[in-house]
Amino acid sequence: MERFVDLKSYNTFGLPVVASYFSLISDTSDMEALIADNVFQESRKLILGGGSNLLFLDDFFDGLVIQPQNKGWEVVDEKGNLVFIKVQAGTDWAAFVDEMVDAGYHGLENLALIPGKVGAAPMQNIGAYGVEIKDCFYELEAFDFQTGKIKKFDKDSCDFGYRSSIFKHNARGRYLINTVTFALKKQANLNTSYGNLEDYFTKKGIKNPDIKELSEAVKDIRRAKLPDPTFIGNAGSFFKNPVIHQLLFDDLLKEFPQIPAFPAGTNTYKIPAAWLIDHAGWKGYRKGDAGVHDKQALVLVNYGNASGREIFALAMKIQLDVKKKYGIHLDPEVNII
Ligand SMILES: Cc1cc2nc3c(=O)[nH]c(=O)nc-3n(C[C@H](O)[C@H](O)[C@H](O)COP(=O)(O)OP(=O)(O)OC[C@H]3O[C@@H](n4cnc5c(N)ncnc54)[C@H](O)[C@@H]3O)c2cc1C
Repeated sequence: MERFVDLKSYNTFGLPVVASYFSLISDTSDMEALIADNVFQESRKLILGGGSNLLFLDDFFDGLVIQPQNKGWEVVDEKGNLVFIKVQAGTDWAAFVDEMVDAGYHGLENLALIPGKVGAAPMQNIGAYGVEIKDCFYELEAFDFQTGKIKKFDKDSCDFGYRSSIFKHNARGRYLINTVTFALKKQANLNTSYGNLEDYFTKKGIKNPDIKELSEAVKDIRRAKLPDPTFIGNAGSFFKNPVIHQLLFDDLLKEFPQIPAFPAGTNTYKIPAAWLIDHAGWKGYRKGDAGVHDKQALVLVNYGNASGREIFALAMKIQLDVKKKYGIHLDPEVNII
C-alpha cells in the first residue's frame, strides 16, 4: 500500500488530488489481504477505475483508494449464436471493445472509445449510440466489503436504468466489481439507427456497414464531437439527460417550440441536457480555468488549473439557471467525490 499518492494522472479532469492511501489489487488474495488490513477497516474508501467519471472536490482524499489491476478476457461458454465473455475489472474498456469487434462478437460496437475500465461500466450502465451495456450484460462478480466474500449479480439484481444501477445507488460503495460477463452474438443485426450514424454512413456512401465499419463510425463521430481528456481535462457528459412529464413538456413547447425531445415511457420525454445548457447561453462560457466546452455544452472542462470546487460551482450555476429557465432539474452524471 502506498501513502500520499498524487491522483492527477488518475482522473481525466486532471485535478491534483493527494490520497492518503493507495492500493493496487490484482487478484482475490490481494483483496482478502486488503480487507484484513486496519487501514481498510478504518478508512473512507474509493474504488478507482480510469477516473473518467469522477470529480474530486478537494485536493486531499483522506482515505483509501483501491484500483483493480486484473486484466484480460476469456470465452467461458458458447450456446448457439451466443458467446459468453468474462472480462476482468482492470481491463481498458475501449481496447476490450476493439478486441470484441475484431473477433466478430456483436453487441458492444456502439460503445467503442468510451474511456475507463471494465469494472466501472456496470456502475452507470454505460451507453452510447442507442446501446447500453445492459443490452448484452450476463452477470458480474463483486467483492462484498461487508462480508468479505464474492457475490454474483445477474442482470435483474443489478437494477440497471438510464446511467444507473444498484452500484450507483442502494449499494453504493459496498461492492468492488471484479469481473463482468457479457453475452455477445456471433451473428446480429447492427444498431445503426442512431441519428448521427445514419448521416455518417449516407455521407460515406456505405450501404450495409459491417461491425468494424460501425465501430469506426462511432469512433470518428466521437473524436469529432468530444474533447480528448489527454489534451483538455473533462469527464464526458457532466449531466444526465433529464426525463420530464408530458404536462411540463407541453408547457415548454409553447415557449420553446424548437425544444428537442424523445419519448421515454408513458407520458414522459427525455430532453437533451446539452440543448438546455446551450440555449441557456452557457456553451463556451469560461471563468478562470473552469468552463463549458465550446462545441459540446454538456461537457465541463478544466483548461489547466481549475480546482474541483470551481468546476463544481460552475455545474451548480448551470443547474440553477436551467431550473429557472425551463423548470427542469439537471442531475449530475459524474460522481462527485
Ligand atoms: C471524453 C469522455 C467521454 C465519455 N463518454 C461516455 C459515454 O459515451 N457513455 C457513458 O456512459 N459514459 C461516458 N463517459 C464516462 C465514463 O467514461 C464512463 O462512466 C466509464 O465507465 C468510467 O470508467 P472509469 O473506469 O474511468 O471509472 P471511474 O471514473 O474511475 O469511476 C466511476 C465510478 O465507478 C466506481 N468504480 C470504478 N471501478 C469500479 C469497480 N471495479 N467496482 C465498483 N465501482 C467501481 C467509482 O468508485 C466511481 O464511483 C465519458 C467520459 C469521458 C471523459
